[in-house]
Amino acid sequence: MRVSLTEDPEFEIPVCKDLVKRYLNSPEVGKSESPKVNSGNNITPFNLSGSASSGLPDLPTPGLPSAFSTEFRTFPTHGLYDLDTFRLPEYPASKLPYSPFEYKRRDSFEVDIIGGKQVPVVVADLSQMEEIGPKQLESVGYIYDEATDKWTIKDAAADFIFTGNRILDFALPGTLKVIVYPETWSNCTDKTKYFPISELLEYNPEVKSDSLNFVMLDCFSEWGGGIEFDHPIFNDLSTVLCLSSTNSNAMQSVRRMFVELGIRGIKNPVILITDSSWKTPDEHLIHFATETGALLLEGLGDGICLGYTNKSKMETMKAQGRTYLEVKDSFQFTNNTAFSILQATRTRISKTEYISCPSCGRTLFDLQETTARIRAVTNHLKGVKIAIMGCIVNGPGEMADADFGYVGSGPGKITLYKGKEVVKRNVDSAIAVEELIGLLKENSAWVEKS
Ligand code: SF4
Repeated sequence: MRVSLTEDPEFEIPVCKDLVKRYLNSPEVGKSESPKVNSGNNITPFNLSGSASSGLPDLPTPGLPSAFSTEFRTFPTHGLYDLDTFRLPEYPASKLPYSPFEYKRRDSFEVDIIGGKQVPVVVADLSQMEEIGPKQLESVGYIYDEATDKWTIKDAAADFIFTGNRILDFALPGTLKVIVYPETWSNCTDKTKYFPISELLEYNPEVKSDSLNFVMLDCFSEWGGGIEFDHPIFNDLSTVLCLSSTNSNAMQSVRRMFVELGIRGIKNPVILITDSSWKTPDEHLIHFATETGALLLEGLGDGICLGYTNKSKMETMKAQGRTYLEVKDSFQFTNNTAFSILQATRTRISKTEYISCPSCGRTLFDLQETTARIRAVTNHLKGVKIAIMGCIVNGPGEMADADFGYVGSGPGKITLYKGKEVVKRNVDSAIAVEELIGLLKENSAWVEKS
């Protein structure tokens, strides 16, 4: 298994171990398993695992369902299950409403900035932030300059924040919108900035925005309740579905919900909600990436919201390996992770993209050191794709759709490409990075770092 092509294989071992650990001793194990039945318990919004989200460290658990008792189980009412086996019906691959073998984004209608052909949105859960002011919004990509009373919006700025029951007492940046509980939304005067979110079991059509509503579904879990697909939220043109699952196989449960939606022609946009119960940044990263990335790679999902259960911890903010992103608190870590997952799945590009060969006996320079050098000077070039390839024999053919290529063409020599075309041959490697910057400038792909 290779997880990074620009680091020595031994640096991949901890990542591989964390990946395997997910399936051996996951903190999710012990959560509900199929069959999924309705306990009748309600779960607080953004608390779909029955615990406080963003709980770093341990936080109280509002909305935690009482111990599950079979006495109170009722069968789901949506009639999907075989009542003898409590299993969902199996569909042959040919009947799936999406192809597991090729990428095609799921069809959804647009609700505000979510769905359709728009890039997936990022929802930042700030409900556990002690104080939310202009300064705190830096963690999710908004920088406030008091002197000019202006906001700078970074490329990786969250599109929505969830604040629970809080209305903010300062003017928000123009692009940022706030998600709150329905009772708070009812009392709020600015209905252009604030939008309600409710859990399906608590959905009240009387408390509804004309333009944008969020409804959460806990997919096929015992806490999630029965889902009636003729419910008015489905195909309602102002409703975005927020899918998660408290099952241990959450990603598969959510994917199954996409199948059920597709079969019924339900086209509401979908936000993927994932909570982590792990302890270290690396574990959280892998959890978020595997749970949401697998779905995004299949074209499923119009946004993501990442959070934490009350079992989680964040003992340090620093993930192993290289990172070029500032991480000053868990909210920034989470926001960076959300945008990095979207970048890695190529569903929303917010930073420079690097394509690199794995290196081999033909490699003509220190690939790691060179990649780090190029990255250090170009990592602010949003959307530019740069390939760094070890040799000219196979490198150009493996550059995929890179905009620019930096390819070893002899000892101490580099050949630079624009797309597939050679533009500078056998440049001295001592000046090749400068030459690459020159090439970026000539092609209007360069901006100065801010
Ligand atoms: S591009 Fe060249 S150096 Fe890089 S892995 Fe392929 S053959 Fe080896």
